[in-house]
Amino acid sequence: MANKMSLMVPKETKPRYNSLCSDDELLDDDGCDASISVKRGSWVEGLIPSCQNSIYLPNTSHVNAPPPREDSASTQTPIIKMGWLYKNPPQGSLIYQHRWVKLDAEFLRYFDSEKDVYSKRIIPTACITEVVHVGDQKFEVVTHNRTFLFRAESDLERNEWVTVLKDCVRARRTQASLDLPFNPCATSEMKGYLELRGLRSKLYTVVCLDKVFLYKNTEEYRLGIGITSIDMNVGNVKEVDRRAFDLTTPYRIFSFSADSDQLKDQWVEAMRESIAEALSNYEVAERIWSEPSNQMCADCGAVKPEWASINLAVVFCKRCAGEHRGLGPSISKVRSLKMDKKVWTEDLVQLFVTLGNERVNQFWAANVPPSEALMVKSSSEERRSFITVKYREGKYRRYHPLFGNQRELNNALCINVQSSDVCETLALVFCGADLNCDTGDPNLPTPIALAQHHGQNLQVEFLNQNRNTELPRSELKVAIDTVHYMAPPSITHNGFLFKTASMTRPITEKKGKEEFSRRWCVLNDGNFSYYESDKNATPNGGLKMREIMCLAVDPAETHGYDHTFVLYTDTERLYLFGTDHPETMREWVKSIAKSFIPAGAEDLLLKDFERIGRLRYKDGLNLETSRLAWFCLVGSNLHIRLDEHPRDETVDLQKLLELSIQPENEVLVLVERGRTLYIEGERKLDFQGWATAIQRAAGSSGDTLSQQQLTEANIPVIVERCIHFITQYGLISEGIYRKSGVNSRIAALLEEFRRDARCVWLKEGEHQVDDVSNVLKRFFRDIQDGLFGQQAHNWLSSTAVSDESSRVCQYRLLFSNLPRVNQATLRALVNHLYCVQRFADLNQMNLHNLAIVFGPTLFQTDGKDYNAGRIIEDLIQHYVTIFDVNEQQLNRQLDEITYIIKLRENLNPKAGPASGDFICTVYLEEKTAEQHVKIPATMTAAEMTFEILDRRKISVREKDYWCCFEINEKEETERPLHFQERVLPILHSLGTDSYLLVKKHFSMEAMLVYLASKVEVSKHGMMKFREERSLLGLGLSSGSFNDRYFILTNTSLRLYKEVRNLQKLQSPELQCSNRPEREWPVKCLKVYHGIKKKLRPPTCWGLTVIYESEKHDKQERQQWYLCCDTQNEMREWFATFLSIQNGGHVWPAEWLKSRTASRSAPLDARFSNVSLIPLRGSENEMRNSVAAFTADPLALFRNL
Ligand SMILES: [Zn+2]
Repeated sequence: MANKMSLMVPKETKPRYNSLCSDDELLDDDGCDASISVKRGSWVEGLIPSCQNSIYLPNTSHVNAPPPREDSASTQTPIIKMGWLYKNPPQGSLIYQHRWVKLDAEFLRYFDSEKDVYSKRIIPTACITEVVHVGDQKFEVVTHNRTFLFRAESDLERNEWVTVLKDCVRARRTQASLDLPFNPCATSEMKGYLELRGLRSKLYTVVCLDKVFLYKNTEEYRLGIGITSIDMNVGNVKEVDRRAFDLTTPYRIFSFSADSDQLKDQWVEAMRESIAEALSNYEVAERIWSEPSNQMCADCGAVKPEWASINLAVVFCKRCAGEHRGLGPSISKVRSLKMDKKVWTEDLVQLFVTLGNERVNQFWAANVPPSEALMVKSSSEERRSFITVKYREGKYRRYHPLFGNQRELNNALCINVQSSDVCETLALVFCGADLNCDTGDPNLPTPIALAQHHGQNLQVEFLNQNRNTELPRSELKVAIDTVHYMAPPSITHNGFLFKTASMTRPITEKKGKEEFSRRWCVLNDGNFSYYESDKNATPNGGLKMREIMCLAVDPAETHGYDHTFVLYTDTERLYLFGTDHPETMREWVKSIAKSFIPAGAEDLLLKDFERIGRLRYKDGLNLETSRLAWFCLVGSNLHIRLDEHPRDETVDLQKLLELSIQPENEVLVLVERGRTLYIEGERKLDFQGWATAIQRAAGSSGDTLSQQQLTEANIPVIVERCIHFITQYGLISEGIYRKSGVNSRIAALLEEFRRDARCVWLKEGEHQVDDVSNVLKRFFRDIQDGLFGQQAHNWLSSTAVSDESSRVCQYRLLFSNLPRVNQATLRALVNHLYCVQRFADLNQMNLHNLAIVFGPTLFQTDGKDYNAGRIIEDLIQHYVTIFDVNEQQLNRQLDEITYIIKLRENLNPKAGPASGDFICTVYLEEKTAEQHVKIPATMTAAEMTFEILDRRKISVREKDYWCCFEINEKEETERPLHFQERVLPILHSLGTDSYLLVKKHFSMEAMLVYLASKVEVSKHGMMKFREERSLLGLGLSSGSFNDRYFILTNTSLRLYKEVRNLQKLQSPELQCSNRPEREWPVKCLKVYHGIKKKLRPPTCWGLTVIYESEKHDKQERQQWYLCCDTQNEMREWFATFLSIQNGGHVWPAEWLKSRTASRSAPLDARFSNVSLIPLRGSENEMRNSVAAFTADPLALFRNL
């Protein structure tokens, strides 16, 4: 074998292997090989270690004392007892195994030795059902499905173990509710099978909070008995390749491999989250958990809950926290014990320690029927309904004896806040005592002032947290005055209305008159009641104004009665009312709206709204908590009145950059320039109603130009998209705008645009230039009032002015009189037509030809009169003057177009319009994070990478080798683009199975280190070789990989078949005398990482190589595969290829500086317009994109 490469690549120093190393050692109690226990000494041989090995740490207050702070492993539970024990032999063996056994409150674990960090077995104490003495020095630990037999060195020692274990199990049992599953991972973030290098079978792996648990299989996971747990506070996750990743700890590297790269990403993410979890701040949590009942979720009993409601005074788990959040902050103010550090003042922490889940639950959960109780494993729906019923409705409350008696409740509150009994205050407040009641003492007018005066800090804290809390509203219909933020004014109104039965579903069909019944309706003191007739004294039914979430006015003639409106209540019901008289309708709508809209938002009532109501929302400035606001929809404007600001905010829905619904969590995402608004549903029906209305309003609302969905530049989205498409693909198309497309396709596309233009992305291959050009023409021809609006005749008559310069003046004047949207649209269109005729030698559409087409189209005339054409001709010809165009800008634009055209011609000389896309899709880190990027002609891979990272506000560190990869899904290969490589030509060469992805290049560092160690860049050695097709005469099989010797030099890659020649090859001077079997110029090779699985590569370190000859007369393309024995080998080959192909410049010498340079002085200012359009993504992604827009608002439309 050729000289072994001694690499300078830093080798991972393998930490000490422990028992997880190999299959054989994995599990010693399942009939596996017992040989290791012989090594360790055995029971039979009686190698009893000294008694000092056994350490007894008495079980004192292990939950009360926070662990030492300097230890980042603060979550570890203190050890109660540890020592050497003998474990019963595996099946078929008589040899007892000497094991180091550790017990803490949560787990009993045993290890090969006291130095091991990772156990051979981990048994949750919650799983242990019994601990029993059995004979000499022995005892059994019994779990649900199996029994572990241990033997101590003496009876004394054995007794100690049994006592401690029993204590532990008992403590565990009283702590946990009976339903608590014994599996600690019931609330895991991620679980599934992973391959662990060195093991024959996959392990069931579970990421749970700050730990990763390994189980032999799902069965054992279900029973709770695992192999080991890995504390993630010392963990570090590194991606190795597409499927593999390393979890590194100071004690061991776990090399995992997932079933797919997608799964790998999920695992890596889950493990990284777990590390973050482990490293997060536990100070507040530890203090709050010092009250033992706070160590379990107040709602479901999950252990170590990390969230709390600071007004309800309960501590709960992450999953329950999600449901609490759903209640809204007016009911439950959810905060994290770990993250929201600022919230946790000394008083608040003390309040939680003093109250504690147990005492608080004696109030909140005094009457929970066992059938309704929540468990750790309860589903989200069960959780939601339990938590809603528990806190929103207060169904399980312990009713205060004074309940219902407001005066006495208030009185009791005033007396009680002077004492330290916060629990009683909690009961009083959540049974209706008024926090703002009059104390009768003018100096201390409120209960808070009273508490303050008496130095009751915790009372003050509790009252303050509940100043604005919405009280539980019981279903018992006991009148409780809410302390809601609104005080409905006393509106009185009555009259006849027609009413249908209330509904629990959205109204989708027309309701005929026969479905309505005439009712006498009375609105009075916040109650709306309806009666059989005005003679009746008892109402048929009614609703309270405070239950109303929304009032929606239907368009006229939606139902049998001409005018109808709908009331949405918080009990998920719809009430439909109708009348034939518009005046009656208006009076009712205003009266009802006025009686449920708070005074602060009253001016919304002045608007001619179609929908008004309250919604929760979050925006970019405050994504933590959602707030309540009053919304009203008027045409395409959504007016928002925030609770705390008297200012009215308006969102122009037509100009949204993005509108999407996240149906799973009922959030409507509105992206406008500068911010993203998340509108959340409080009630399903209400949210559906709003979502539909907002979506409709954001679509084209009518047939005039200004009623279209608009871009920020006030151009209809349809116009912008069509022009852009034609500019890219249609300028060289002969007879563009003159040729007709396919009628059915044109109609369909136009319809798509009309439905929701924002969602239509024109793509080459999918859409034809002639169809698109006709869509544009038809749009202008059909638009109500035309592009020139009411003044069209003035334009037409100005053609009579014979003097050219006077005519131009006239046009300028007329242009300045056009409405905003018409101005912007006309300017964009003429700019486009100007460009089209500049390339008339290619497309045959000169000034005159364009005018013939567009004159009648824009003026909506029959085309017999050329006046309209003359105007268009003038507008194009005098484009610069009439529209005050910056000529420099115009020239840049033309240059870019020229470049585009040239590039296309070069790429595809025969095939006409070339493939590719100038607005292209690039992904960031994973295929789901889709970005649309406009790629200027000169952009390099490094520039594009920086552009995306910048816009996504990803900070880049020196050793982060961010790189753009060309990924081929079909071939299962990827290739990092060289930093100087131009992106545009690559894009044009990508097939449909390929895409670009920006991510970190994890091997780069190792490659650079390797290259730095080389004096001369060349490499030779064995690789396994396989060709795509069989080559006759060479004796190479197409079906398998064969060992071949390769020499890679500055100029070529040579393949040698005969291994016996190798000796000679060692000396370079002899190399030339040996004729290689094959030889390729290095410059013609493209090297990709990875080999298609179907080809069964013998190792996972493969390269796919594509050879394309440069000869023009004969295009030759070969594809073949190389397989290396190790990852290092492969990296070295790849590095050598890279270095040779790029003259040694594999990575920019000063990577981060090169970035600043490229930012401040773009290579070519003409092509520096890159824009990133947010399409979808997480809140964070959206936020970042929007921030990017704000930073460079011109980027998006600069080039139109
Ligand atoms: Zn819970």
